[in-house]
Amino acid sequence: LEGLDPEQRVAAGAEPGPLLVVAGPGTGKTRTLTHRLAYLVAGRGLAAERCLAVTFTRRACAELQERLDQLVPGDARRMLVTTFHGLGLRILREQHEAVGLGPGFRIADEAERLELLGELLGCPEREARRLLPELVRRKRARAARWPDLDAEASEVAGPLARYEAAMRKRDLVDLDDLLALPVMLLAGDPAMAARYRERFGFVAVDEYQDVDELQYRLLRLLTTPDANLCVIGDPDQAIYGFRGADVGFFLRFTEDFPAATVVRLTRNYRSSPAIVAGALQAIAPSTLVAGRELAAMAGQDAPARITVHQAASDLAEAEFVVQTVDRLLGGASFLSLDSGRADGGAEHGLSFADVAVLYRTDAQSGPLAEALDRAGMPFQKRSHDRLGDRPAVRALVRALRDPAVVPGPPAGDRSLQERLAAAAAAATDDMAGAAEALDLLAPLAARCGDDLDRFLAELALGDEVDTWDPRADRVSLLTLHAAKGLEFPVVFLVGCEDGLLPLRFGPRRSPEEAAEERRLFFVGMTRARSHLFLSHARKRAWRGSVREAEPSPFLADLEAALLDHARATARRRPQPAATGDQLSFL
Ligand code: ATP
Ligand code: MG
Repeated sequence: LEGLDPEQRVAAGAEPGPLLVVAGPGTGKTRTLTHRLAYLVAGRGLAAERCLAVTFTRRACAELQERLDQLVPGDARRMLVTTFHGLGLRILREQHEAVGLGPGFRIADEAERLELLGELLGCPEREARRLLPELVRRKRARAARWPDLDAEASEVAGPLARYEAAMRKRDLVDLDDLLALPVMLLAGDPAMAARYRERFGFVAVDEYQDVDELQYRLLRLLTTPDANLCVIGDPDQAIYGFRGADVGFFLRFTEDFPAATVVRLTRNYRSSPAIVAGALQAIAPSTLVAGRELAAMAGQDAPARITVHQAASDLAEAEFVVQTVDRLLGGASFLSLDSGRADGGAEHGLSFADVAVLYRTDAQSGPLAEALDRAGMPFQKRSHDRLGDRPAVRALVRALRDPAVVPGPPAGDRSLQERLAAAAAAATDDMAGAAEALDLLAPLAARCGDDLDRFLAELALGDEVDTWDPRADRVSLLTLHAAKGLEFPVVFLVGCEDGLLPLRFGPRRSPEEAAEERRLFFVGMTRARSHLFLSHARKRAWRGSVREAEPSPFLADLEAALLDHARATARRRPQPAATGDQLSFL
């Protein structure tokens, strides 16, 4: 328990039993969770095999695993550290017979599902694509209530049953089955559920504010009300409502687990005092945590204010980002070469990896990527979408599997990574897309060696952000959703405009959606350690036209004393005196 503050130590060292840790960003929640696991194993003699830690993305898992490796080297690899989908997959692999699957069942991608559905119903792909979400919704609703069936559930017996029978016949499951099938299995077989509860003597969940109904139900099946279960999170960072997550499960934890100990962490070790103060003001109008306290412990020598920048257009905003990065890094790009810049103002020891540019939707990344490219600044761009959702990724994977494009192995003599690169090089119609897809998939291919099946399985399960590399010395371009849980010394939160952040969906926005938009703004601000830039553009290209934009109303909730208003940094002209020297040097 060394290396923890007194509040964190109370949480990590609590007696076994249900434990709820409610705390704001940067308070060391993830750190506390890993220490609790380590403490129970190293200090309280719990067998590592009996520990289950669950999060939402593979990237978050990798981080947990890494932190555990450092804390309890021998034991960490024997714990089950996984995502909810990974946990469901594990249970299905163990119990495949009980659900009518063979030992080598596969996860179907969307294209396969659409094809199968189209075939079954005799309809074109467009129609199948329209039907699929409804089938998924009903499948999930049925699992959430299983084994109690109501009228709606039995009425789907038609198309859903035929779809499922066809999937089973081909030994396929889909992503939603990874939760729905284990839930139905355990709900219908109490003895089996009891065996799993016995096996997992300790269950931990990070980011619990983002569980959805099926994940919640699976968790309840794996625990009793007095279980050794530790959930950690921040209701004000609940940002996945649009995918079915429900922060209500977090808020009612002490009703579900009446024996629970509740611990609050109140010290923020991540962000400067200005950033902490600003973030608290931003979330205040719709906070879900009454009486929240958050004291800034770090960054006393960071800038005393948050910078707000108004740009003339989205292109000018991207230019502002690049020039500011260049200034902070002390002339790291081509820009400095042609502006003869050699000034101070650079922060000590900052590199590209310390910089993140965050935005509400992936569609905003275009001008940013282009500006970074022009300046010769390397970047990695990730969203929170499923890896397989991007058409260019699907095309690349199709090409990879097509022997006419990438002549198949004489297996083993070319790695997956090389074959993937060959497939990308062969792309003719969407070369930029293929290059982007290659950038996304290369880290995964490298991890999978030459195991194509593993590559495809991980692809089916993964989100784009799973292939984000924390060690790469590149600027990170991330959607706000993808940035959850991460931290960077320098953060640009761009597009702080009404209609974009908060994003307007169609004519009306429900109060829940509006509150979630504010939480996204809060999540974005609190990724920053010392430099936070909030920018907005007066004009933005959006869905094929240029529209005028007003600043986000969220900006108005920040007290003026915390803000600095930056003007566009005009690019300096080369100094005549220095030019001669520089030219001869070049
Ligand atoms: P988020 O809500 O964004 O997920 P979190 O609460 O999970 O944040 P962590 O990522 O665990 O926070 O920690 C935030 C930062 O604070 C990390 O850099 C971590 O190393 C540091 N930190 C946490 N606890 C302490 C501590 N007791 N002493 C020093 N640094 C700490
Ligand atoms: Mg965290």
